[in-house]
Amino acid sequence: MTLSFSQIDPPSRLLMGAGPANVHPRILRAMAADVIGQMDPEMTAYMDETMALYREVFRTKNKQTLLVNGSARSAIEAALVSLVTPGMKVVIPRIGRFGLLLTEIVSRCGGVPCTIDVEWGQVVRPEQVEAAIIEHRPGLVAAVHGDTSTTTAQPLADIGAICRRHDVLFYVDATATLGGMEFETDAWGIDVATAGLQKCLGGPPGSAPITLSDRAVAAVLARRHDEAGIATGQPQGEGPVIHSNYFDLAMLMNYWSPARMNHHTEATSMLYASREAARIVVEEGVAARVERHTRAGRAMVAGLRAMGLQIYGDDATRMSNVTGVWVPEGVDNARVREQMRQDFEIEIVSSFGPLTGKIWRIGAMGVNAQKHKVLLTLGAFEAVLAGEGFKLPRGAGVDAAREAWG
Ligand SMILES: *Cc1c(COP(=O)(O)O)cnc(C)c1O
Repeated sequence: MTLSFSQIDPPSRLLMGAGPANVHPRILRAMAADVIGQMDPEMTAYMDETMALYREVFRTKNKQTLLVNGSARSAIEAALVSLVTPGMKVVIPRIGRFGLLLTEIVSRCGGVPCTIDVEWGQVVRPEQVEAAIIEHRPGLVAAVHGDTSTTTAQPLADIGAICRRHDVLFYVDATATLGGMEFETDAWGIDVATAGLQKCLGGPPGSAPITLSDRAVAAVLARRHDEAGIATGQPQGEGPVIHSNYFDLAMLMNYWSPARMNHHTEATSMLYASREAARIVVEEGVAARVERHTRAGRAMVAGLRAMGLQIYGDDATRMSNVTGVWVPEGVDNARVREQMRQDFEIEIVSSFGPLTGKIWRIGAMGVNAQKHKVLLTLGAFEAVLAGEGFKLPRGAGVDAAREAWG
């Protein structure tokens, strides 16, 4: 029997969940460009341009600013497998599910996670991080900036200085916030930051930007990079071997350097996507883009509150690009999401762990952080909730959001 599936023709859904968000049409067009050889001068020029663009996006002067091929997790894993040595203590402030992911990866790398746990929805205070550093003497502090599971953003500005003072490296997962919330790699003293394209950067999943400070680069280069001793031309340190080839940041940095030491085949179409995503951010301006996401979040919160709903988390530490809202008594979380999708082609999501089924998360990221998309989502949400018997003042949500947008 021959298989004959139809050509892919996905619905044009409005993705107002926690990521992926809809992809900017310019990025989709860039991805349709022809594939060229990885050592072509055009290709290596695109790689250099991509590095320069992401320095702007990450707000850093770090020479080593490049891409890891894979979803956001690939850069998280590259950072941790390259930095964490066996027995190394790693302090991890945990404000949600992605803190658990850092813990798991650190353990797999042979590190010893020393977690600072707070109730979901809360953040960790800088003093707690300093106390944990003094108690555990870690080699690394690994934190999540915006944890989409709790829609909460960990303030980072003071933690970097504490890490410098105690000579500890500082890693941050900025997947959910880069390009949407203020993020200052250099000014906040962050040594390694990683991201993905599918949240505020407006691209598809599959490429993970990363930036490394000179201190972090030195730590990576101090390790051995080739367990088998095969002559790869990689600089060999004395430290414990990095137990990955694909995610060995020394090898990746070499590949992205003028030496162009062959490693993997750069994912050509994803490089086009990453480059275009960053080009769009730089054109719009990082500050203007943050302001747009802030407005979208403010309008969403105002609209939801005007509908009589309770917003999850703290006003002071809430992410602007994804909003958590409590499911009211007697309303079926899953049915509401299903009707949003079936009747309005709009995706919203629930959350994980202790918040499973308890909240909805409604995002406005990248190209979706726009007035009309926020208003359409709120209008649809109102209609669905009213249909489920939830008593709300009709029209109030959209009106409040329009006003809050300004
Ligand atoms: C969405 C998200 C990720 C996603 O990782 P993927 O590998 O791209 O699925 C990682 N970290 C945080 C904080 C996120 O919000």
